[in-house]
Amino acid sequence: MIRANDPSLKSWVTVSADSEFPIQNLPFGIVQLPGKPPRVASAIGDFVIDLYRLWELGLLTGLDLNRECLENRCLNDFINRGKSTTRAVRDRLSELLDAEVTRWNSREWRDQFLHPKTEVDLLLPVKVTDYTDFYSSIEHATNVGTMFRGPENALMPNWRHLPVGYHGRASSIVVSGTPIRRPYGQQKPAEPGGSPAYGPSRLMDFELEMAFIVGRSTQMGDRVRVDEAEDYIFGLALFNDWSARDIQAWEYVPLGPFLGKNFGSTLSPWIVSLDALEPFRVVGPEQDPAVLPYLQSNGAKNYDLHLEVAIAPEGGEAFTVCRSNFKYMYWNMCQQLAHQTVNGCNITVGDLYASGTISGPTPDAYGSMLEISWRGSRPIRLPDGSERKFIADGDTVILRGYGERDGIRIGFGDAVGKILPAHEQG
Ligand code: MN
Repeated sequence: MIRANDPSLKSWVTVSADSEFPIQNLPFGIVQLPGKPPRVASAIGDFVIDLYRLWELGLLTGLDLNRECLENRCLNDFINRGKSTTRAVRDRLSELLDAEVTRWNSREWRDQFLHPKTEVDLLLPVKVTDYTDFYSSIEHATNVGTMFRGPENALMPNWRHLPVGYHGRASSIVVSGTPIRRPYGQQKPAEPGGSPAYGPSRLMDFELEMAFIVGRSTQMGDRVRVDEAEDYIFGLALFNDWSARDIQAWEYVPLGPFLGKNFGSTLSPWIVSLDALEPFRVVGPEQDPAVLPYLQSNGAKNYDLHLEVAIAPEGGEAFTVCRSNFKYMYWNMCQQLAHQTVNGCNITVGDLYASGTISGPTPDAYGSMLEISWRGSRPIRLPDGSERKFIADGDTVILRGYGERDGIRIGFGDAVGKILPAHEQG
């Protein structure tokens, strides 16, 4: 077992029972302390752990680290050191913070590397080198297919044979807390053959997704096999793939998503290592018909992670509109990576692969407003009495996610974004 995962471990740092950051998590992110360059950090309870400062203090000696990889505005160089290093860092942190080891607990030590989260800025944790978005939830694909093609043809003939995906845009992926401006774009003509409408999107939506970050690069021509794919996955984060449904509906034929998607996507601030998520492994849904040999996957490759989405209107309280779970995914991450590389496509440390909207089997588990309101035909009512079919200006959308076992909760930090009104000038 990985030392840092030991459920009996307790820290001398106070961690509340419902915290997503107990000593068993120790995720990785980038923090900015006032007046200092950005640096690699971890988190425990309500504190961030300054890994650069720990290294300066000589508390990370013997690990394959240096100033350049720790005083850095992204995790890419750190992740590139490999799992042997990132695993050893988590283990070292769990030793330093162990309640049995009180040596670093004094004010003079702890104040040098622990900072309240409220006193720092969390930056985008990775420089996203390339971004792929999959479409791997069978419940989501069935819902959308049913809406647009009817229940008979809900899934396209390819869907159960390969993890459908598209190449997205990395430039507009932002960290939690960054506002998103309602986009302008073309919308479907009111009548067939007519001119398209143009203006601010009227059908703004969120997509509840998880993303994994690649931790090991390949050369062009290489393939990653399903059974070795985990070696290439560094960790996971929450991901909101904001979608303008009206722009999407008009533009997507025949090449797929484009401007209805690439105006912004929100990533949670912490990347939780695959190591820390080990306790939440579960077997995924049975795949029928059997998939081709290069996609065949054995063992527990899905993860039991509770996911939820809340909407907070301007000045109002957050209201949960969806409760789903990452375990529902029909195609797992290893299959996605094997498929992505089966043609020899090379992958790079810092690549981000998003799951696609994660819907569950019941309407309260649908992962987008498109499904929750069933294309706008079933509006929901918020506590302030207002109705929502899609996302309104001033709404803040909050994604949360965590695994919980033996009373230990391991989460990602919220992925939050507020929708600002479109610019006045068209
Ligand atoms: Mn998506």
